[in-house]
Amino acid sequence: MKRATILSIMLLFTVFGLTEAFARTFVTIGTGGVTGVYYPTGGAISRMVNKKSKEYGIKATVESTGGSVYNINAVLSGDLEFGVAQSDRQYQAYHGLAEWARKGPQQELRAVFSIHPESITLIAAAASGVKNVQGLKGKRLNIGNPGSGQLQNSKDVLAAAGVSLDAIKAEQVKAVEAPGLLQDEKIDAFFYTVGHPNGNIKEATSGRIKVNIVPISGLGIEALLKKHSYYARATIPAKFYPNATNQADIHSIGVKATFVASSKLDENIVYAITKEVFDNLEEFKKLHPAYELLTAENMLQGLSAPIHKGALRYYREAGLLKYINPDLVQ
Ligand code: GLU
Repeated sequence: MKRATILSIMLLFTVFGLTEAFARTFVTIGTGGVTGVYYPTGGAISRMVNKKSKEYGIKATVESTGGSVYNINAVLSGDLEFGVAQSDRQYQAYHGLAEWARKGPQQELRAVFSIHPESITLIAAAASGVKNVQGLKGKRLNIGNPGSGQLQNSKDVLAAAGVSLDAIKAEQVKAVEAPGLLQDEKIDAFFYTVGHPNGNIKEATSGRIKVNIVPISGLGIEALLKKHSYYARATIPAKFYPNATNQADIHSIGVKATFVASSKLDENIVYAITKEVFDNLEEFKKLHPAYELLTAENMLQGLSAPIHKGALRYYREAGLLKYINPDLVQ
């Protein structure tokens, strides 16, 4: 081959390679602590879309963050393209409640789909004698870091059970640190709103200190369920945590993990991610045991912000619009 031909072929490869690199849009998914379920969820979603990276020109990556509230704020400020966030936090942000009470309704927030159920999980050292939420009085308790979803859930559950924040020694550290603090006897208990099974609760229940998963139930909790429709009954299967002292499944309440974006995010990106997850749902479900009961129908429930235009385009095409609350279709 002539030298000139070889050179022009090399040039062609370089130019083509560069064009491909430029055509690629990088999107980041905000998740949670690495031992939770959000982090592998971000991984599972990015894996689905990255398989078609050539077709869509999208490369998704995952970031470990402080959780739901952080993710919603980062999505709205444009620091992150997507975030995983609890369904109750999606509702509160869109309506300007809880952490958003001062800033007001976050009208640019958009729902993409919902994912696995999450239970408000209360873990206590068996030696602390905590058998129910009332038993937390006087104890050292991690209620969750600012930025997490669980912080507000902990406050709601304590208030519903008639335990004031002054009656406990409250810590606000990230969930990822809580199992270590419990095992080191630095705290007596912690709250974590999370899907099951997960590495965090496995870690908390597998150490030297015997640990109990405490039920969240009673009259106050019944009233809380009536007051907020985003809370639903939940059960934590004891089989997931064989080293905990629990013999039977644990009653609690919970929410759903959801996937959110800003209305400003490019429609084609949201379309591509939605399509890849839904078209390959059986494959997606294999990526984490917490996804066991997911269906296209229940992944469109538990949403309260309007559906992102890109996701809506896919739901229309796929005939899934019938499962969506019409108020969320704009
Ligand atoms: N629900 C938690 C939060 O919003 C995160 C749970 C997880 O990382 O799986 O902060």
